[in-house]
Amino acid sequence: MKSYEVLIVGGGHGGAQTAIALRQAQIKGSIAIVSLETDPPYERPPLSKDYLKGEKGFERLLIRPIRFWGDRDISLLLGQRVVAVDPNTKTVTTEQGERINYGVLVWAAGGVPRSLTCEGSDLLGIHSLRNRADIDQLVSELPKVKRVVVIGGGYIGLEAASALTSLGKEVVVVEASDRVLARVAGEPLSRFYESRHRSHGVDIRLSNAVASIQGQDGRVSGVRLADGEFLTAQLIVVGIGIEPAVGPLLAAGALGENGVKVDSFCRTTLPEVFAIGDCALHINDFSGGEEIRLESVQNAVDMANVVAKTIAGKPEGYKVVPWFWSNQFGLKLQTVGLSRGYDSIVVRRNRSVDSLSMIYLKNGVVIALDCVNSVKDYVQGRGLVVARCERSVEVLADVSKSLKEIGLNEAND
Ligand code: FAD
Repeated sequence: MKSYEVLIVGGGHGGAQTAIALRQAQIKGSIAIVSLETDPPYERPPLSKDYLKGEKGFERLLIRPIRFWGDRDISLLLGQRVVAVDPNTKTVTTEQGERINYGVLVWAAGGVPRSLTCEGSDLLGIHSLRNRADIDQLVSELPKVKRVVVIGGGYIGLEAASALTSLGKEVVVVEASDRVLARVAGEPLSRFYESRHRSHGVDIRLSNAVASIQGQDGRVSGVRLADGEFLTAQLIVVGIGIEPAVGPLLAAGALGENGVKVDSFCRTTLPEVFAIGDCALHINDFSGGEEIRLESVQNAVDMANVVAKTIAGKPEGYKVVPWFWSNQFGLKLQTVGLSRGYDSIVVRRNRSVDSLSMIYLKNGVVIALDCVNSVKDYVQGRGLVVARCERSVEVLADVSKSLKEIGLNEAND
């Protein structure tokens, strides 16, 4: 039986960074990453952006050059799914029936895209965007596609809409809520993005659910909406969120539900088993005591660093402020903090129509910012979130002052 001192399940952002950080911390023991995908660790964000548009080749997505892993004596066990964990014998079992022993297990398995469940969901031409194979398959079908329906107006759906529009496709976005980005952003940002997409020709249908997918000869021909309208489409992109990939851990007795519960050191309730990244349910320092999962590169990488430090005997709890980005139609969105639970929003607009910053407050405290093409506000506003500064709406809205000045002024009062 193979045996590793540290066995990492999942070769995405979190898994790769765990191995990298362990070697940086001079951990000499054996390390393996077992991953379902057949590619070495690569960056996922470009999948719905430059990679989909064909502007970035796959080699440029690699988190490290291929030789890095061998040079650092990190074994990549690719194309293998872990289906069971036995915390008593400290082994995992793969789908192929192989058992692998571990000293410490780091679960970094991310999530699985939610699928449609309506009639016609099994037709050809319906795509999720989670891994390289998803995009490659979608791109191979594009030459025969004139019109695409994107189901879901979250970040991934909107990024796909932007990329596919730039590739010359007609795109319709169908969103069940009354605004795009409803789960993650305040209304002014939703309206800003809605208007930007519409101005590029994207047809956005809000407050409308999908009733069924229609097909011809086994392939998608369009989408029937709940209000009866039929939207012709040769391809469908589904961006309706993910389910955390934690089945084997929960079956082994780890606590959790929508994810696996971890403490501030990313320890699950199973001995010597950590969980990180998209699948880790944790109380974030910036979530106001709420248990959450974060789906971002920052969270996966920072949790990986926390685990590596703990394994290296220098534990430091997870305290980093969350941040995220998204690129659509030349708009670079950068967010910092967590806006959930906000009770007021300040919109700062300068003269450029392409730029806007939104500041979220809760009980007068700055809890988050969404900055579009506004790196300065993002960088300076970050300090306000980290320091949990109290600022009035009027002060924050004053664009004649930078956020740095606003922070300093009131701190000196
Ligand atoms: P992942 O990177 O998903 O890696 C998990 C790996 O585990 C996968 O390779 C999976 O195949 C493997 N695996 C799953 N189950 C098993 C199993 N049982 N056995 C073995 N292997 C398994 N974040 C941002 O911050 N900014 C962005 O702009 C952004 N854009 C994105 C665009 C797209 C299209 C996608 C899909 C995600 C985007 N994200 C973005 C989110 C970000 O990529 C994720 O939050 C991040 O990849 C999470 O890292 P992770 O290590 O938790 O999981």
